[in-house]
Amino acid sequence: MNNSFLMVPAVLAIAAAPMIQAAPSTTVKAAFSRFKTAFIEAYWKQNPESAVAAGYYKYADRLPIPDDAERRRSLAFAGTWLQKLKAFDESALDVQDRIDLRLIRNQLESERWETRVFRAYQWDPSSHNVARTFGLLLGTEYAPLEARLRTVAKRLPRVAPYYAAAKAAIKSPTREHTQLAILQNKGALGVFGEGFLKQVEGSKLSDAEKVQLRTEAAKAKAAIQGYITHLEGLDKALQAKGGRSFRIGKELFEQSFAYSIQADCTAEELYRRALTEKEKLHARMADLAVQLWPKYFGTEPMPAGRLELIGRMVDRLSQKHVPAEGFVAEVKRQIPLLESWVREHDLLELDPTKPLVVRETPEYMRGVAGASISAPGPYDPKANTYYNVTPLEGTAAQKESYLREYNDYTLQVLNIHEAVPGHYVQLLHANKSPSLVKALFGNGAMVEGWAVYSERMMLESGYGGNTPEMWLMYSKWNLRVVCNAILDYSVHVLGMGEAKAMELLLREAFQQDSEAREKWHRAQVTSVQLSSYFAGYAAIYDLREQLKAKQGDRFDLKRFHEEFLGYGSAPVKFIQELMLPKR
Ligand code: ZN
Ligand code: ZN
Repeated sequence: MNNSFLMVPAVLAIAAAPMIQAAPSTTVKAAFSRFKTAFIEAYWKQNPESAVAAGYYKYADRLPIPDDAERRRSLAFAGTWLQKLKAFDESALDVQDRIDLRLIRNQLESERWETRVFRAYQWDPSSHNVARTFGLLLGTEYAPLEARLRTVAKRLPRVAPYYAAAKAAIKSPTREHTQLAILQNKGALGVFGEGFLKQVEGSKLSDAEKVQLRTEAAKAKAAIQGYITHLEGLDKALQAKGGRSFRIGKELFEQSFAYSIQADCTAEELYRRALTEKEKLHARMADLAVQLWPKYFGTEPMPAGRLELIGRMVDRLSQKHVPAEGFVAEVKRQIPLLESWVREHDLLELDPTKPLVVRETPEYMRGVAGASISAPGPYDPKANTYYNVTPLEGTAAQKESYLREYNDYTLQVLNIHEAVPGHYVQLLHANKSPSLVKALFGNGAMVEGWAVYSERMMLESGYGGNTPEMWLMYSKWNLRVVCNAILDYSVHVLGMGEAKAMELLLREAFQQDSEAREKWHRAQVTSVQLSSYFAGYAAIYDLREQLKAKQGDRFDLKRFHEEFLGYGSAPVKFIQELMLPKR
């Protein structure tokens, strides 16, 4: 990677600084707009892999090597642009630009912290992997195949030095991340397997180019294999004498939480809140189960324990589900019903010109069962938004277990979360005032928090018939979000072990064994991410309740939703400052 970005002209900042003080706001707006454009271009040049992931391919032929020189360049980049950002007076910017400025600053400060303090490159071997970008270049038709293969050809000779730098960077790996890295890098070998060779063969490249691609790909595979072998050696050593703990500890957890969630509270405060919330949910669920018991179990005596009682009732209601072959059709059927409900109950504006396309998940995206939204990236705004639903596969028992998880009650909540008025509707609103900065550096806790908030809001409006069955099953669903936050903090800060974690998930959150195991693994190899759903949800719910209390009869739910979503994917804390100033 060359260094020229360091010489990106500082014209903007220098020219802008004196102008800004007295200038009319249109001039400030224009100056900040130029700043954003220059920043994003420089950011992509510095981070070509992230650029490809965002759908920007201009620098795709570069593969940065994870060595000290690259980390110095990254720190210098953050320092330079943080300095340039200081030329802008926040209070002189309009609301949308002020949020953009803070998002850019947080992004740069957070990357600097990751390099200087968090240092995952030293202890998480899975942070080194070339597969993702190569996979995107080969699998996305952003340009003719031949052009993409030539881009790949330029990157391939960098794979060997990449893994040499990765080996040198690893100082104190955790065993969990070492094992994850072995698994994922084995997957990386597949990127240069049969499918790749067929692509090369079928292309219109010259014979010489084809030979070169095959040779370089073989060398790249050897480098990946060398990394795997190195990690397997490390794993043996770690098994024998132990190593760094996967638990990141209180200090790093709080810092990471501050950068990625950007909440109004500390991680510890959120954890305590989640514990209280779990208690409230259990109490409510027990009441509902008592109420429902005679209808489903007649005169059979109720279990004495609260958790056993709830568990029996949840199991019973989970048996109501669609047949496996009707799963995708049922999702399709529900979307228009959700849309009419939202319209008729005056909850939000919908945009009929940008319909959601429900489809079966394309083969290349499958692997994990379930449903997801594929939204067009900021560089491809006219593309469709898809709701991918995977038809059920596997044995009869696997299908049955999945259908019980997404039963008649929770399948509706899933559709609310993913589609209407969850992720899909939030995205439509964010796109009304398009901001590349918010699309690229938006706040994940706000995005997930909105989807989780929308579930409860729909039920509060009477969706699902306000029945005790629906509320009980919704509560079980919501308990997952609450327990994710409890698990995350308990594992990384309080030293929770596997047995206690499984007890929390199985006994207190009523999860299936496979789901709980997967969650325990995720809690070990990620940190803070599992807290984001509850953090965003709790903050949005609080903001609404405070506004209700303040505005009394004047509070209007639809107006609240429209204004809230109008700020784009900003941290709830920023939106709160705008909608509910402290004084
Ligand atoms: Zn069944
Ligand atoms: Zn979500």
